[in-house]
Order: sequence, then C-alpha cells, then structure tokens
Amino acid sequence: MNEYDTEKMLGVLKSCDYHPTDNFLEADLILLNTCSIREKVEQKVYSTLGRLKRLKEKNPSLIIGVGGCMAQQEAEKLLQKVPYINMVFGTQSITRLSELVKAVEEKRNKVVDTSLNGFHSLSLIPRLPQRVKAYVSIMQGCNNYCAYCVVPYVRGKERSRCKEEILQEISFLAESGVKEVTLLGQNVNSYGKDLNERDDFSSLLSLINEVNGIERIRFITSHPKDLSPQLIHCFKELKKLCEHIHLPVQSGSSLVLKRMDRHYTQEEYLDKINKLRGVSPEIGITSDVIVGFPGETEEEFEETLSLLEKVEFDDLFSFKYSDRPQVKASTLPDKVDEKIKAERLWHLQNFQKKYTLMKNKRREGKEEEVLVEGVSKRDPKKLTGRTRSNKVVNFEGKIELQGSLVLVSIKRAFLHSLEGELIDPLH
Ligand code: SAH
Ligand code: SF4
Repeated sequence: MNEYDTEKMLGVLKSCDYHPTDNFLEADLILLNTCSIREKVEQKVYSTLGRLKRLKEKNPSLIIGVGGCMAQQEAEKLLQKVPYINMVFGTQSITRLSELVKAVEEKRNKVVDTSLNGFHSLSLIPRLPQRVKAYVSIMQGCNNYCAYCVVPYVRGKERSRCKEEILQEISFLAESGVKEVTLLGQNVNSYGKDLNERDDFSSLLSLINEVNGIERIRFITSHPKDLSPQLIHCFKELKKLCEHIHLPVQSGSSLVLKRMDRHYTQEEYLDKINKLRGVSPEIGITSDVIVGFPGETEEEFEETLSLLEKVEFDDLFSFKYSDRPQVKASTLPDKVDEKIKAERLWHLQNFQKKYTLMKNKRREGKEEEVLVEGVSKRDPKKLTGRTRSNKVVNFEGKIELQGSLVLVSIKRAFLHSLEGELIDPLH
C-alpha cells in the first residue's frame, strides 16, 4: 500500500515539476512515506529524520515532509520532536500534495494536512511511466479492528472504489504495457460491501479477467474469516488469476485468535486451506504470524508451530507483537517479555525455513510459466521473474524478453529463489 501511495506521490510531484533523483544529497524536496504498523518502523523514521538534520542545516531551503500512517496519527508529536520538518500530510492527502508543497514554497511555513477525505480522486493522479507489473488500490481503510492493529485508526473506514474506475485504471495500465496487476486492500473480501450487492470481490475479479493486455492478476490481502466459496472458486475459473494467496493467520491458537478478535478458529482456517487446495492443488500459500501477543503462553505458541506443520506454508512473514496507540491489545494484561518474544520469533522463523525450502524443492524438475520482470539485481547476467505461485525465478535470457511470459524449467531451488533454464517464450 505504501509503495502504491509513493508512486502516486511521485505522479503528483511530477505535475508540479519535481523529478526523482538517485542522489538525495542533491534533493530540493525529501518526503518520507511512513508506516506505523509496528513500533520498530516508527523508530526508523525518527532516526532517518535525525540524519536529514545536517542536510537541512547546509541547505535551509530544502523542504522536508513526512506523510503516511505515522504522519496521520502523530502529526503533533512529529512537529514537536522534529522542528525542522516543513510539512506533515496524512494517508488521504496525496491528492492535495501539490498545493501543500506550493504553500511551503511560498511561505516556508509548517503545513499540516491529516483530513481523511481524499481517496476518491486518487485515480485522477497521473502515474509514472509503467513497468511490467503494477499495484491497483481497490479499497481503502478497514472495519475489522483486530485487537493489535492500528490500520483502522490511520487509514479510516472501509471505502471501495467503484468498479468502473478500477477497470478504467487497469485498462490504462494495460495500454501502457503492464501485464500483471496486484489489487490492493486491507481485506479485499470486503470489497463492495459499501457499494451494492452485485459488486463483490469475485465479480470484480471476473471483470478484470476480461481486460485485454492484462495477463496476470494477484491480490493482497484477504482476511480468513471472509474468504468466500466464490473467491475460492475463482482460482479454478479465472485463467488470469495467479495461484497464490496471502492469507494471514496471525496465530495457531484458537484462544489467542479470539483475544485478537480475528473471528475464526484454527480448525476453520485449516478447512479454508483444504478447500483452496481442493480447487487448486499447486496454489502457493503465504501468511503472517504475530508472536508474543499479550497473554500468549508457551502452549499457545506451540499451537502456532503445529499449525505451520499442518499447513506447510510456502513462506511466512512473522513479527513480534508491539503495542500501538489506541488499539485494544495495548490495554490487555500479561504482556509477554521482550526476550521471550525474540526467542519465539527466532524459533518460529527457523521452524518455517524447512517448509519454505521443501516447497521450493518440490518445484525442481517442473516447468513453470514466468513473467519476465527484467534483469536480476543480484546477477545482472540473468533475467528475473515470478511463477504464478509467486516464487522468484532467475535464468539466462535476453533482455528483449522483459514483459513476456516464458516457460522455464526449474533446475535448483534455494530458500528465497529458484534457478531455471529458459525453454520457450510463450508470447
Ligand atoms: N490487512 C492485513 C494486515 C495488514 S498489517 C490483514 O488483515 O491481513 C500486516 C501485518 O502486520 C499483519 O498481518 C500482522 O501480522 C502485523 N501486525 C499488525 N499489527 C501488529 C502489531 N501491533 N504488532 C506486530 N505485528 C503486527
Ligand atoms: Fe488490521 Fe488487517 Fe485486521 Fe484490518 S483486517 S484490523 S488491517 S490486521
């Protein structure tokens, strides 16, 4: 979501004649697009701002702005703690960014905009020259209020974009050469609930499946409680929908899930996984886990390990629980000691590694469809792309293949990528 917002910001800034530079020492304007999902990311923002102080001393006309979720929530605190910031803007202020920058240029005053009413005109913002794949935001905000999560407070209530506007944006992207779109929303399964009954997420996927030029569709993220039979069915029916789902489980303990206000049990989660694999046996499944949620006992943590064993995720993103302002979990008793959280995280990550590698190894000897994204950053002699199940594949080939679907034979699997050999360009 932040990457998408950053791209929109670059689009707006281009229209007021600011262009990106690779060397931030030369910049006239520096914007930090912040995240506040965990405490650690906030600390990074303050330390980055600390480093910018010297630049500002050398060049007093440098404009420094802070946007995104942390700015939305902590505008006052940011201005107090970091007096040399020129502007603070929230998650819905991107449409107004050019006016904010102009106001700073003219008056060099501090400008603050954290109102939550800019989403609907976001699609009007010009995008930058396109690549092979692009994000498309289909909704903003979240109504779920999971006990640990700050998102509903910093991104507001759920608001879906109308399907016509989404389809228009995707057609425009297809015309500019984009082959793969990733639909973004905090819980895409809720798409359309605030529109009318027929505009649900599965019907939106069917419409996008018909857009000429788009070869692949992905989406992120889907809440397990709302994963509908219709959406599961889409993995069978829609040719362009890639066989990958990110389905954050958060914990394997039904009691912890209850305290997290997630509204599903371990059994219900496993049932959905079985149904997904029933319609799409090769589907890649990834997830998020939080360790050390308030009150999490050793037994409850072990239930999470046992869930990992049962599901065999393709990959896992795992985090130590951290208190966030306003959220319910901050007020819960029995906070887990930092040291225990760190131990559990280490244990969990090591435990998962064998499944990630095993899942990758199972692809050895298979032929996979890969969308060529460009040259590999690690090895410039190779091309890089992803399988439909979202695994990174590196292989030798000519750069002219960028943007094409090719068939690659998988030779070796590692923890984070696959190595392959080009068989045949498909298009
Ligand atoms: N909308 C997505 C999640 C967005 S936040 C969903 O519902 O799945 C991304 C991830 O950050 C979450 O899945 C969760 O694992 C993690 N996270 C959120 N709040 C957290 C907190 N307070 N402490 C630690 N991890 C957190
Ligand atoms: Fe946060 Fe996701 Fe829960 Fe919404 S559904 S509150 S974004 S974790």
